[in-house]
Amino acid sequence: MEIQYLGTAAAEGWPALFCDCPICHNARKEGGRELRTRTQSIVDGKILIDFPPDTYAHALKNSLNLGQIQHLLITHSHMDHFFPVELIHRHEHFGHNSKGMLYVYGNETVEKGFYDAVLIDRFKVHPLDDSVKFIRVKPFEDFEAEGYHIVPVAADHDKRETCLIYIIEKDGKCLLYGHDTGLNLSAEAWERIFSYQYDLVSMDATMGQQKTSGYHMGLRDDVEFVGLLEEKGCIHKDTVKVINHFSHNGGMTHRELERFAGEHGMIAAYDGMRINF
Ligand SMILES: [Zn+2]
Ligand SMILES: [Zn+2]
Ligand SMILES: [Zn+2]
Repeated sequence: MEIQYLGTAAAEGWPALFCDCPICHNARKEGGRELRTRTQSIVDGKILIDFPPDTYAHALKNSLNLGQIQHLLITHSHMDHFFPVELIHRHEHFGHNSKGMLYVYGNETVEKGFYDAVLIDRFKVHPLDDSVKFIRVKPFEDFEAEGYHIVPVAADHDKRETCLIYIIEKDGKCLLYGHDTGLNLSAEAWERIFSYQYDLVSMDATMGQQKTSGYHMGLRDDVEFVGLLEEKGCIHKDTVKVINHFSHNGGMTHRELERFAGEHGMIAAYDGMRINF
């Protein structure tokens, strides 16, 4: 399995749009891996995870032919994960030679955002029904997409909606995609998470130096999370542990995050990073 991290920032971007804190200042000065767009990933070039406003820039930068992608998993409705208005461009009028249907999987709030965006007046005469189809998913109700077994797990995030993280399995490989979430997960969520052994674990590291009490994680939460997975036999000696979804409010530059990750057997994600596992 391969995961590519197309974007690795939290909602406000890195540097944040209107910020000149030391982290953002440094990012503008250094460039390169210190610059991050909003979080999005793609598995094996087939399963796209989340759809931020930077999706267009990700497609340009990585030469992605997104018309060939047929499965899009959405974790939750926050704008850094779901910017649905762009989906109208998969309509046959704009998306020539796109492959069959794009299936968009998400919760009830994502579903509402999807229909609010695609049923705008300008597109009523060109319904998207032949090119994009929304599928409502619920926590712990597994489904299959293009040979991938996908398990939505209830996250510890915005309580106004059913935020999801995903376990993705194929050909004996297993990925845990944990953005966005804190550690205050339900007993049912822990039970499901602990019932797999992972080859790659992608962890929320939004808050950097700060310890959180839920909603997101900081680096100390990530260490705690890995400890729990180890205790339950969910990781093996070659499991890749990635920290991702960074905010400047975490107070660490990419270079500092890399140093921390290196000391703890983890990898700090950067935009464009690919990992085969
Ligand atoms: Zn986010
Ligand atoms: Zn800043
Ligand atoms: Zn969020």
